[in-house]
Amino acid sequence: MSFAELNLIPALLKGITECGYTTPTPIQSKAIPEALAGRDILASAQTGTGKTAAFMLPALQLLSEPAPKRRGAPRVLVLTPTRELAGQILDATRTFGRYINPRFALLLGGMPYRDQFKDLQASPDLVVGTPGRLVDHLQRGSLDLSRLEILVLDEADRMLDMGFKEDLEKIIAGAPANRQTLFFTATLDRTMADLAGRMLRQPVRIDIAGSKMTLETIEQRLHVTDNRQHKEKLLQHLVSSPDINQAIIFSATKRDTDTLARALTAQGHRAAALHGDMNQNARNRTLRDLRRGKIKLLVATDVAARGIDVTTISHVFNFDLPMFAEDYVHRIGRTGRAGATGTAISFASAAETAALRRIERYIGQSLPQQVVPGFEPTRPLDTRPARSGRAPVRSGRPQKTGEWKGRGEARVKQDFPPKKRTERSAPVIEYRTRRSSAPTGR
Ligand code: AMP
Repeated sequence: MSFAELNLIPALLKGITECGYTTPTPIQSKAIPEALAGRDILASAQTGTGKTAAFMLPALQLLSEPAPKRRGAPRVLVLTPTRELAGQILDATRTFGRYINPRFALLLGGMPYRDQFKDLQASPDLVVGTPGRLVDHLQRGSLDLSRLEILVLDEADRMLDMGFKEDLEKIIAGAPANRQTLFFTATLDRTMADLAGRMLRQPVRIDIAGSKMTLETIEQRLHVTDNRQHKEKLLQHLVSSPDINQAIIFSATKRDTDTLARALTAQGHRAAALHGDMNQNARNRTLRDLRRGKIKLLVATDVAARGIDVTTISHVFNFDLPMFAEDYVHRIGRTGRAGATGTAISFASAAETAALRRIERYIGQSLPQQVVPGFEPTRPLDTRPARSGRAPVRSGRPQKTGEWKGRGEARVKQDFPPKKRTERSAPVIEYRTRRSSAPTGR
């Protein structure tokens, strides 16, 4: 299928071609025609599937049709969990939407209000923002959702995880009932299904979820380590490899990211830290430097690095294993993007055996172990599978394994539509898509 077959207007087709996209990804070919037809959408799709264009292209097509403007009252609102993701949505919109060129406002927490008021006063067509700040503007009366035509929730599961449920409810309450809603989530458990049921009207269900495809373009390796000192020395050795174009190094705590980044800089690397305690300007500057190639090694925490989409990242290091198995997939998905291949290298010490088991059960494979001469661990790791039980996962999220899609399907059928039906919940039409046909290879 080509983009031309999706009923997109020439101005958007031109923008897409200039972006270098030739074939729609599965989420795009399923979602775009339905969204253009005005249907609500409930899509399970992760970052890396091309979901941004799947919701932004129909939104931009709507904005290409003129409508009266009013201060602070956008026609399209995109809700995202993090500031980084919001910035990336806007960047993508600027590229494929360059011939529509909508007036927009970016309403993010941690940023000064002054510019946001100014942008709202200028009658934006499109608002992209994080829930807390959006509610703030709603309560101050600077944002008016009464004219909203399309509401997009991007990474809705992450927004719930981050405690934005109440804010989401307030935003939904402020939007007109006849709006169109495009709901994107990586996982769909009972809480998510309840929220979706209340928000969506006869949604088309599209399922592009699955961690397996993400893993196919990424070579994964495991190094067993004795302790932190061993990890530091091994990292120092591995990051000096000429194979590394750019790398993200994940560590467990904000303090550790600073310490590691300082140590790498002292060793002569172009390294920097990225974590939630940095102010927004510093975070933006770091991301910009990463994109421009000024930074080669970015040491980051999970939340700060979520959604980073830089195709030149060749390696991901898990200096510490993540506590939740699903974060492992999110982390390694920072490499191998847009059809490129990538390498994910994890360090595990004896204290992380349980986390390693959880990850291996979740992705449905063992991580191949590698030993670098001169950096051998003194003891092997006991990676035999646990005798009983299922992998613990983040509370409120569905149990998943490498066979994520299969399990997801069973759950979705039980959970959706939710038992307690409301006016907006309704039967769904289902699409099942195998991601193997994704032109991006992701
Ligand atoms: P997303 O899931 O929206 O974060 O997109 C993941 C990556 O895929 C981004 O680098 C996009 O620029 C790229 N991408 C999205 N759609 C396409 C497409 N149809 N063809 C090629 N690359 C794409």
